[in-house]
Amino acid sequence: MEPFTSGLISPEEALQLIQRPLSPIHDKVSLALKDATGRITAGPVISPIAVPGFDNSAMDGYAVRLSDLVLPETPLSVAGKALAGKPFTGDWPQGSVIRIMTGAPVPPGTDAVVMQEQTETREEGIIITADVAAGQNIRRAGEDIQAGQPVLDAGIRLGVSSLPLLASLGIAEISVLRRIRVAIFSTGDELVPVGEPLQEGQIYDTNRFAIRLMLEKMGCEVVDLGIIADDPQLLRQAFEEADRQADVVISTGGVSVGEADYTRDMLEALGSVTFWKLAMKPGKPFAFGRLSESWFCGLPGNPVSAVVTFYQLVQPMLNTLMGLKNHESGTSLQATAGRFIRKTPGRMDFQRGHYSSDAEGRLQVVPAGHQGSHVFSSFMKANCFIVLERECADVQPGETVSIEPFNYLLDD
Ligand code: AMP
Ligand code: MG
Repeated sequence: MEPFTSGLISPEEALQLIQRPLSPIHDKVSLALKDATGRITAGPVISPIAVPGFDNSAMDGYAVRLSDLVLPETPLSVAGKALAGKPFTGDWPQGSVIRIMTGAPVPPGTDAVVMQEQTETREEGIIITADVAAGQNIRRAGEDIQAGQPVLDAGIRLGVSSLPLLASLGIAEISVLRRIRVAIFSTGDELVPVGEPLQEGQIYDTNRFAIRLMLEKMGCEVVDLGIIADDPQLLRQAFEEADRQADVVISTGGVSVGEADYTRDMLEALGSVTFWKLAMKPGKPFAFGRLSESWFCGLPGNPVSAVVTFYQLVQPMLNTLMGLKNHESGTSLQATAGRFIRKTPGRMDFQRGHYSSDAEGRLQVVPAGHQGSHVFSSFMKANCFIVLERECADVQPGETVSIEPFNYLLDD
């Protein structure tokens, strides 16, 4: 290992150190279903009703009793109609059938529903042209969900697979965890907010924009404290303000060892720093620790590093804090390197890559352009991380590498 990388902690170790002291928030709020998208269930959800609520027809056709079907080819008269929302309520004489539509409650005594396509209509009635099995084409009450059955666990993010289910159970309000509040600011004398002209040597503030976007996608409440100059006094004020307002404080820049890098010193003065150097590329300077009221993450200044460390380390941390259960680390797949991939041993690389499947369905991956931590456009061409272990050296075309397809945070 190069001397310059010894003493750096691995991303896996960093993740453990971050997760260990965290406990999820537990404040609850009750929300109307339509306002609960992206929110996290505060407790298990129990179904108040059975679904289906009653035996009903799966087809358009005829409700029949098997005892009426003893003589084949005998026309059966149609004694009435059952429609969805309009049950058949009359008498059902022997030797007759009831016309029934999909979703209609099956009349009491029904043994089966015969689909329309398996009948012939004659003047005297209908003739059934296929065998009939007891129970066919009847959707039974409680077949999907029974009353009192748990349908969702605590710690589930509500979305398209769960909210319509709750609607189908008539649940109009749901208890969710409150959103976590995250205060963000960028540090650097060179930074200018988007929309203002640049003076010589200045650059636009990419990080705050990127971090805010990802936080919003995750459903966090964002407190944006803007750009803070490289001035210890102003930085202290920003940290104190952020700590007062938020559950988590995220700054970018100033965690390195340069002359204007005050972030780490300030964090050490105001709180406790768990670690601040990672064997990770991009993202070597990354500080994690505790202020008096909040957790903090000091992200690197380079935009690619800020986004990659947010994705790999801050994302799982926020997931835990916001009460999301079973959030997995990224899906790891194996792919064949389609090109040479440069890699220096010493740090774990999270290169931006583009993967696709070849004619035989095997995954291939190529690096997505320049891998410099200042080259943000590499994200535009990428759909995955190429994850190269710490000791791994250059990768030759044809060798197998691990990839991690971007999840919803980066996949737009
Ligand atoms: P630092 O970690 O403060 O030394 O910054 C490392 C590099 O990232 C420098 O080139 C900075 O100009 C650049 N940088 C820092 N913060 C930002 C930001 N918010 N947006 C874009 N570039 C930044
Ligand atoms: Mg700086």
